[in-house]
Amino acid sequence: MEPDNIIIRGAKQHNLKDIDVTIPRNKMVVLTGVSGSGKSSLAFNTLYAEGQRRYVESLSSYARQFLGQMEKPKVDYIGGLSPAIAIEQKAISKNPRSTVGTVTDVMDYLRVLFARAGVAHCYNCGREVQSQSPQSIADQLASLPPATRFQLLAPVVRERKGTHQDIIERARRDGYVRARVDGVPVDLDSKIKLAKTKKHTIELIVDRLVTPDPSSDKRKKAAKDERRNFLKRLVDSVETTLRAGDGILIADLGDGGEQIMSEHNACPDCNISFPELTPQLFSFNSPLGMCPDCHGLGTQMTIDPDLIIQDPSVSLLDGALRWYGVLRKKKKGWSMRQLQGVADHYGADMETAWQDLPKKFKDVLLYGSGDERIRMTYESEWDEGTWSGESERTVKGIIQTIERRFRQTKSDGAKRWYSQFMSQKPCPTCEGARLRAEARAVTVGGSCLSEVGELTIAEVYGWIQSLHNNSSKKNPTKENAVKEPRAETWSYATDELSYSAPDSLTPEQLEIADEVLKEIGDRLRFMLNVGLHYLTLDRPAASLSGGEGQRIRLASQIGCGLVGVLYILDEPSIGLHSRDNRSLLDTLLQLRDMGNTVLVVEHDAETMRSADWLIDLGPGAGILGGEVVAAGSPEDVAANSKSLTGQYLSGKLEVVAPNGRKRREPSNGWLSLVGARLHNLKTLESRFPLGVMTCITGVSGSGKSSLVAETLFPALARALHNAQRPPGPYDRMEGVEHLDKVINITQSPIGRTPRSNPATYVKLFGHIRNIFASMPEAKTRGYKPGRFSFNVKDGRCEGCRGHGQKKIEMHFLADLWVMCQDCKGSRYNRETLDIRFKGKNISEVLGMDVREALDFFANHTKIARILQTLHDVGLDYVKLGQSATTLSGGEAQRVKLAKELGRIQTGKTLYILDEPTTGLHFADIQRLLDVLHRLVDAGNTVVIIEHNLDVIKTADWIIDLGPEGGDAGGEIIAQGPPESITKEKVSYTGKFLRKVFSSVRIQMPNGNPNPCFLR
Ligand SMILES: [Zn+2]
Ligand SMILES: [Zn+2]
Ligand SMILES: [Zn+2]
Repeated sequence: MEPDNIIIRGAKQHNLKDIDVTIPRNKMVVLTGVSGSGKSSLAFNTLYAEGQRRYVESLSSYARQFLGQMEKPKVDYIGGLSPAIAIEQKAISKNPRSTVGTVTDVMDYLRVLFARAGVAHCYNCGREVQSQSPQSIADQLASLPPATRFQLLAPVVRERKGTHQDIIERARRDGYVRARVDGVPVDLDSKIKLAKTKKHTIELIVDRLVTPDPSSDKRKKAAKDERRNFLKRLVDSVETTLRAGDGILIADLGDGGEQIMSEHNACPDCNISFPELTPQLFSFNSPLGMCPDCHGLGTQMTIDPDLIIQDPSVSLLDGALRWYGVLRKKKKGWSMRQLQGVADHYGADMETAWQDLPKKFKDVLLYGSGDERIRMTYESEWDEGTWSGESERTVKGIIQTIERRFRQTKSDGAKRWYSQFMSQKPCPTCEGARLRAEARAVTVGGSCLSEVGELTIAEVYGWIQSLHNNSSKKNPTKENAVKEPRAETWSYATDELSYSAPDSLTPEQLEIADEVLKEIGDRLRFMLNVGLHYLTLDRPAASLSGGEGQRIRLASQIGCGLVGVLYILDEPSIGLHSRDNRSLLDTLLQLRDMGNTVLVVEHDAETMRSADWLIDLGPGAGILGGEVVAAGSPEDVAANSKSLTGQYLSGKLEVVAPNGRKRREPSNGWLSLVGARLHNLKTLESRFPLGVMTCITGVSGSGKSSLVAETLFPALARALHNAQRPPGPYDRMEGVEHLDKVINITQSPIGRTPRSNPATYVKLFGHIRNIFASMPEAKTRGYKPGRFSFNVKDGRCEGCRGHGQKKIEMHFLADLWVMCQDCKGSRYNRETLDIRFKGKNISEVLGMDVREALDFFANHTKIARILQTLHDVGLDYVKLGQSATTLSGGEAQRVKLAKELGRIQTGKTLYILDEPTTGLHFADIQRLLDVLHRLVDAGNTVVIIEHNLDVIKTADWIIDLGPEGGDAGGEIIAQGPPESITKEKVSYTGKFLRKVFSSVRIQMPNGNPNPCFLR
């Protein structure tokens, strides 16, 4: 019988304190606790690792040799474990060809749909192209209304110059009597004279027919015979016509017009033949389908004038163009003389600001003078005197020059220099559609594949539904059989479809496409249910956030329909607005109801309340954590006074603005960004108050990142630090003079090898090395501080070159790091380890976590001050020498934040953070808020993109974007202090804030909101 529980005994991985945990199977279980309490150690490093290990053990020894030995997690016993699948938050794919459509398989199915039910068109004239057998052509003609007169023509000359006597002669010989020449019927017996210099068209008339009329006054038998004779003659004539017309047949219906039919997949008008419709034809990864000019990338690197113009408000001499730089000092140079010549020619002044120069002059500088010749004077100083001359010639523009040099240079450095003037523009051939012309001209329901790719998931879903419209009328029972769970969760998105409704498919097309349509519909529905309605199918996978990637993986798992699996998820609520959280939870419950165990590591209160079972780890972080504080139903945990999580759940504790402070008035001036219009931004006029904390809110896809991370930050970085990365388009920025620095505290790693660690990153390690070098024994031996660096030869273990680990290159998998046997992971050689400070060697110090180190270095002001910043951002449990590769995105972000706290504050810095609450428990969020508000108290400005209501409610100012994601978003729908946002009817953020403000507020009497921070 299947066990009811997964039983873990004696878990000791990392900081887990030899604990026993019971996880009910086929339930949704949430694992929570403060950062560093051991959640990941239990979920990923114990349960998932053991699941993987057992899986590998079960493989053949042949397969195992490629996978290597997997380390057994430190646990005594695990019973009732199912196969485990982890759905983590890492980038899905870095391949520029991967898109939302390809990673979800929706594109694969759409390609099959287009190959089966697609209607091909000639890309030149737009005419429908079909390949038809003689039989099907005959069938079509036979189905004309009764008593229709028509004639069959075979085109033998199409729009070609000449007298064509040979062709006419042969037609006569073959027994044809009539033809159409240039549209006029003629007898072939008569003399036909064609002008040699004109283009002519000759079509032979093969047969004239009338469809039988059964209603006419005939006996049944006679009517039947007539029909049979007609069909026989028709098929014969169609075959003859196609033979004579080289596969093309024209049916002239008299007043009813003409039908051109082709035996080949070819446009009879343009004489272009088309390949057979196969799924490969619609793949930009396949040579059969890709646009030949951009090889399926959809973009080409082109030179961008905006990148050449550095600052339009200054003159050429002062460096308006990046290409020339500041010219004032180079007055004697060659390019300066040439430039002066052009300026003189167009009467332009080199002292005038670029934006005020005559357009003609600016165009010549950028694009060249074309045929216009410009007089140049030369003057060169030689040792023997001056030489001068003049010439008249055309000048090349900067753009042509860069283009040529980029093509010709062999040096990577030079290529990089030139490429900074280039930006990616849609490929002019396919206009970014990535596919070759033949594939782009195939439509289903009136749309071509790339048009479907530009739609959002919600829109594609609507499109798929409307393809069915025909059948739903004709075959309602079949339509009703399609199950559509929880339709209400995506209805808000499909209501607002902006494209025109497509033509529905014919019953025949529906029949062949039915299975495919169902597969596509299912996949789209799963994605709608996890709140991804706003993503377009052609969105590059590499541009998705970790949370979006995780939810896509989640959606595809449901599509797999596996049963009896243990799913482990890491904070799936990240990046999700409160509005979309509910449908995500329903998806998790659906996964459970399919017969799986769902284990979620999560800090979100709503997720915890939806759980069947809640496990709270703690009580603290690192060595202070690793125990089960409470376990049971959410109600049980909320009632448990020992559980910190429980106290927040029950409302006894609450995240509050530090010290219950009042909101700051935005009285220190404003930074305004006018006309931002990247992606879906609707030419925004946004104003950021300075010297306060501002939250940028809005549902996923509403434009928060486009505004802050892709426009505001690079624009400020360019203005303040001369950064190169071009910002999204905007008109102007005002108020920069109030700032002297902008810092984007991202979640990217602090280093990419095990050599990087928090101690070096926050500049702590240098101070520690100095202490070791000052020890008497070190002085005697002559050890300098460098000796204690694992990057330097003298002191480190040479077996691993100071890594402490050795890299094993795996042929099929990611590189594997294993502990160095020479130094047992200590990184140093024995002599270096002999030196001790307060009884500890350098390796042991690096092994301390922040909390231990704070006590250890309490008397060393400089070190303690830096450690304090790491403590303040909630990283007590992180080890000083912990390799950067093991830190999560949220942890890396907080290490960077700690470094900022350690700097001398100028009070004029603008900090930008994107969802800093990732991975944080209520208690950690409180601590983070304390730190952020401390930065603001020093006069700085903090701008945060955030979904977490606990953070939003403590902000001084909110800018809410929306109202929806994608095209239906990109506007500022509300701004002001949080209280004013709650009054906005259209704001989802306001709606959820209202609930937060109306709930009971309990504050700790001493002003310190949370007892766990008292040291
Ligand atoms: Zn054509
Ligand atoms: Zn192209
Ligand atoms: Zn070593």
